[in-house]
Amino acid sequence: MNSKKTHIVIIGNGAAGISAAESIAEINHSEVSPSEITLISTEPGAVYYRPMLSEYLSEESLPKRFYLHSIDWYTENKIRLLQETKVSSIDRESKTLTLSDDTSLIYDKLILATGSYNFVPPMPGAALKNVKNLRTLEDAEEIRSIIKAGKKAVVIGGGLLGLELGWQLLQKGISVTVVEMMERLLPRQLDTEASALFLEKVLDTGMNILTGVGTEAILGEEAVSGVKLSNGETIPADYVFISIGVRADVGLAKACGLNLNRGILVDGRMCTSDPSIFAAGDCAEFDGVNYAIWPEATAQGKVAGINATGGNALYEQTIPFNIYHGMNLRLFSIGDAGSLGDSEYEIHRHRDGDNFEKIFAKNNQVVGGVLMGNISRSAKLKKALQSRLSLSEYLAL
Ligand SMILES: Cc1cc2nc3c(=O)[nH]c(=O)nc-3n(C[C@H](O)[C@H](O)[C@H](O)COP(=O)(O)OP(=O)(O)OC[C@H]3O[C@@H](n4cnc5c(N)ncnc54)[C@H](O)[C@@H]3O)c2cc1C
Repeated sequence: MNSKKTHIVIIGNGAAGISAAESIAEINHSEVSPSEITLISTEPGAVYYRPMLSEYLSEESLPKRFYLHSIDWYTENKIRLLQETKVSSIDRESKTLTLSDDTSLIYDKLILATGSYNFVPPMPGAALKNVKNLRTLEDAEEIRSIIKAGKKAVVIGGGLLGLELGWQLLQKGISVTVVEMMERLLPRQLDTEASALFLEKVLDTGMNILTGVGTEAILGEEAVSGVKLSNGETIPADYVFISIGVRADVGLAKACGLNLNRGILVDGRMCTSDPSIFAAGDCAEFDGVNYAIWPEATAQGKVAGINATGGNALYEQTIPFNIYHGMNLRLFSIGDAGSLGDSEYEIHRHRDGDNFEKIFAKNNQVVGGVLMGNISRSAKLKKALQSRLSLSEYLAL
């Protein structure tokens, strides 16, 4: 009988990596021959809730429930955690990883959960001092150490992350201008009507919003002094934050020859083109999409973890949704929230003061919607999409 334990190595201690580790640890509890788990991360410390990083910029200390597990949790679950360690290469033939300290590690099954990085365009001035982007706790610490009340910031990118960043800076007494290339805010999450309402709320905070204009260059000698827009205008700035989207971190996968598109291609079992390697989260691409959101990463991580132990779990595509709480408003948007224009849908619309609800259906089936202000029906709306309910069935919930 072969009593050798399966060694599962997970690269990445974020949402997907930890979800994989949790599911393997749970399976291990009831196994006669549990798998060995090694989790490797370039970041120090235990896994944390990345979406809380923006909030931390304006808080005195780390928000409550920032860390998802204590460091002891890893030991208790027999997970060997290699912190501040980078995997530099994967040799698929010998199933060996080379680490940044030049040591090597052999795996039986490998899970890539390397996440994504913020895209920084090759724009003049992008490398100047005080041009920042927010991805890690280290980035947040660095930003906290430089920002000072009374200064001016430009945020390039008016998506939810950029706006949330702007909102936190505003609360630190910094004047904020957000520059968005699209004609309106959140065009992927909101239709024109909801987007106009949302803009009103954002402007009420005192944030300056410029839409329909690009950024040509970041100006300054050593440190930032301003931003030059595509309309020729210049805005003064002490800090510039770039928040124009993420790119899947596929570096390791590409170098070892796995099949890629924008992300690492995976099947419904989260298996890559190599049967011994799984991928999950922001770095993976399933069925042509990668939403790069937290719930997708945890759901995929779980499937990858189960299958790495020899199980047979299948991933069901996440219905993308955004939930936002800040800027004195609450916002929930899910699915196709009117991307084709009102005339293409059956619509339920209700407005009562600051509360706004607009639900979109096609072929007698709810396909998406927006809730602003009171978002208490968000779970029901999610259910309507998951269960393919009609508008009237949703309204009766
Ligand atoms: C500021 C901010 C706010 C956000 N807000 C929201 C939100 O409100 N809602 C939402 O759904 N999503 C939000 N997101 C996105 C969400 O955080 C990500 O979708 C999620 O973190 C992806 O998880 P992941 O495990 O795939 O990758 P990550 O969390 O990025 O983890 C990747 C891990 O891989 C490690 N790694 C990478 N390469 C190597 C290597 N070569 N060797 C060793 N380790 C490596 C990294 O150190 C890291 O630990 C936000 C993201 C940010 C940055």
